[in-house]
Amino acid sequence: MKIPDKGEIRKPSKTLAGVTPIAVMCKPRKCKHGTCLYCPSLNVPQSYTPKSPPVLSANLLKYNPYEQIKSRLKAFKLMNHPTQKIELIIMGGNFLEYPIKYQYNFIKRCYDGLNEKTSKTLEQAKKLNEKASHRCVALCIETRPDSINEKTIKRILEFGCTRVELGVQCLDDKIYKFVNRGHGVKEVVEATRRLRNNGFKVGYHMMLGLPGSNPKKDLEMFKKLFRDERFKPDQLKIYPCQVIKGADLVGLHEKGKYKPYSKEQVQKLIIKIMKIIPNYCRVMRIMREIPPDYLVAGIIRIDLRRDIDAELKRKVKDRIKEIRFREIGFAIRDLRKGEKINNKLGLKITKYKASRGEEYFLEIVNKDNILFGLCRLRIFNSAGVVRELHVYGQALKIGEKSKRLGQHRGLGKQLLNEVEKIVKGAGVGELKVISGVGVRNYYRKLGYGLDDEGVYMVKRIS
Ligand code: SF4
Repeated sequence: MKIPDKGEIRKPSKTLAGVTPIAVMCKPRKCKHGTCLYCPSLNVPQSYTPKSPPVLSANLLKYNPYEQIKSRLKAFKLMNHPTQKIELIIMGGNFLEYPIKYQYNFIKRCYDGLNEKTSKTLEQAKKLNEKASHRCVALCIETRPDSINEKTIKRILEFGCTRVELGVQCLDDKIYKFVNRGHGVKEVVEATRRLRNNGFKVGYHMMLGLPGSNPKKDLEMFKKLFRDERFKPDQLKIYPCQVIKGADLVGLHEKGKYKPYSKEQVQKLIIKIMKIIPNYCRVMRIMREIPPDYLVAGIIRIDLRRDIDAELKRKVKDRIKEIRFREIGFAIRDLRKGEKINNKLGLKITKYKASRGEEYFLEIVNKDNILFGLCRLRIFNSAGVVRELHVYGQALKIGEKSKRLGQHRGLGKQLLNEVEKIVKGAGVGELKVISGVGVRNYYRKLGYGLDDEGVYMVKRIS
């Protein structure tokens, strides 16, 4: 790798959303329900291939979480990225199905890795991380909808988890059955509601072109996703179905009974989907990187999102409400010579119903709808919980003052003040915040304290 020049950040888009993401992979393990039709089983973490970049490095480190974190931190430092605010992402198979002891140890070792020190217990490691040089500001776990229940919720809260990504893939029980998902729409609805009520940010992984679907059906599915109050995810990852070596789908494809979408079909479909995604949802990713040696059929273009974004900007820029498309970090990156970003900011509040509760989505935007910060508040059963507070812009060090637009201009505090006003108006006496362990001190400065269970930051609102 070329050593960056002084002050130069290599691959800046990695931290443009304001945090430094570190993905850690668990050891290979089969899913309990069996194997989904399209999922490759190749003696590496389920759904990955031996040549997938995260697998290559995790395998080399024997899937040791401590070593994986150490190595990623080193790489980010080499590329000149800040490493104080870390978003941890636990990848590979269904984490909540691993033996419970393995789960606890894995998470503890992740915190140990960030702390650069081994603690005796998970609690101790979390406590240490509150003041560590690499603080965990968000923790994401990927799992299946049918793995979410009261017990697992309690456990992931104990882990310090703030976001859950559910493998949803579609909203059709017939397709679920055909592809051997082992769960139905009912479990998606239930998991979404439980996660939301406990303050988690909810992401869905959705798959286009599954057997039994077609572009028209897929578009309908996305319309339903945001029309039906049982779903309305905060985030999405959209993957076109690909035929991958080691998956049962290969057999169907060989017999001529399955054909994946072409690049043109997918691009056209995703452009239509992007037009209906509401302002409160972020499309985290489009496409999975499958090494060419393992791709039997399907799209190979890994930069598909770039093509889609370029077309959207050219044709329908003002109609796209999706979060990532409007983030200040990317707006600054894409500025043309002589162009400036309007710095006059205003507050916009969107209220919507989801999973039998009221959601408030607060945004700080300029007149061009460029997004500087957001906050998600949920009110249900006379309780208020902040599910996310995020200020966008290139990640900065904790306490560092911004010379540019974006982070560290007091926008987080402003958003929280507005949320407190809403909560007060609704007659809710207490506000809870689900907070990454590394952000607890930020909330303490704003009058919040850790609850008795050591999970949420709370404040009396009167
Ligand atoms: S649940 Fe996910 S990891 Fe497990 S078999 Fe299905 S697609 Fe693969």
